Amino acid sequence: APAALGHSVIPIVNKLQDIFAQLGSQSTIELPQVAVVGSQSSGKSSVLEALVGRDFLPRGNDICTRRPLVLQLVQMKRKADGTDEEWGEFLHLPGKRFFDFNEIRKEIQAETDREAGGNKGVSDKQIRLKIFSPNVLDITLVDLPGLTKVPVGDQPSDIEARIRTMIMSYIKLPSCLILAVTPANSDLANSDALQMAGIADLMVGYRTIGVITKLDIMDRGTDARNFLLGKVIPLRLGYVGVVNRSQEDILLKRSIKDALIAEEKFFRSRPVYSDLADRCGVPQLAKKLNQTRISAALVSVAKEHASYGEITESKAGQGALLLNILSKYSEAFSSMIEGKNEEMSTS
Ligand code: GDP
Ligand code: MG
Repeated sequence: APAALGHSVIPIVNKLQDIFAQLGSQSTIELPQVAVVGSQSSGKSSVLEALVGRDFLPRGNDICTRRPLVLQLVQMKRKADGTDEEWGEFLHLPGKRFFDFNEIRKEIQAETDREAGGNKGVSDKQIRLKIFSPNVLDITLVDLPGLTKVPVGDQPSDIEARIRTMIMSYIKLPSCLILAVTPANSDLANSDALQMAGIADLMVGYRTIGVITKLDIMDRGTDARNFLLGKVIPLRLGYVGVVNRSQEDILLKRSIKDALIAEEKFFRSRPVYSDLADRCGVPQLAKKLNQTRISAALVSVAKEHASYGEITESKAGQGALLLNILSKYSEAFSSMIEGKNEEMSTS
């Protein structure tokens, strides 16, 4: 399995945790949750699925995600005899294990209908799904309905405001990393995702990773270089461009594995992206996300230490503390941050 969210980050987190334990520290590394924001059909669910490396989310060129889906990935120990199993379990169906991921998708759809009706209604009541697998690392991902402007079906007239409020309630949390998804075939300056992320993430960019989807269907003669380089709207954490499956691919039931191979081929065959390899593709997104999660977790540990009165309030003091923590707690981390550690890339 592609396991795009990678095993490689786990040893680093484990190592950090070991060191905490040795130091007798109460701190635990809590990796932040990740939410996707963007307009309807910008490719949010597609991006999440590609990151998880399994097919199980409703996707399509219509409103598919109509309730927040809180997706908790739980890493299982690998079995020595190679009989590893992956399964999903819903909070609303305790004890029922779904081994067939198509059934997971069907249950998400059915449970969406139960709460939000069958006619495009939206509800802020969560669906909670846990996926147990040896191929994932512990992370919570939140798939959210996309922003729409015009009510359709049973949607109320204030649908846009409602969805905005719902999204904001997730992404305003300081511990939430934001994947701001914008399709490459629209203008970045019109991006709902970046607009909302900009409001939620006041220190613009510290929690926001820009994701540009649909690089394959840009207008002929255009490319996404300036987006990816941050020349249109700069983001501290930068952008990653991806190519997910098209609606046709979905209809043809093309696998995620094939899609990742096709994506790689896409970037390899386009000279305009050849010098931007670190900003192109789902594996790069997974890598960036992992790095960001770990550094965000370390910053929160640093803040916690600071709150014990170990250090001053000053920026310099905090920076010094963080450096201290970094050097004390993990050598692997610094090389990882500089992107030298290719182990961090996904397999
Ligand atoms: P969401 O509403 O933001 O969750 O978007 P979905 O993930 O459901 O995708 C909406 C539609 O766009 C689907 O038909 C996808 O197949 C299609 N799509 C998503 N990403 C890409 C992409 O990178 N390239 C192409 N060609 N189609 C994409
Ligand atoms: Mg969706």
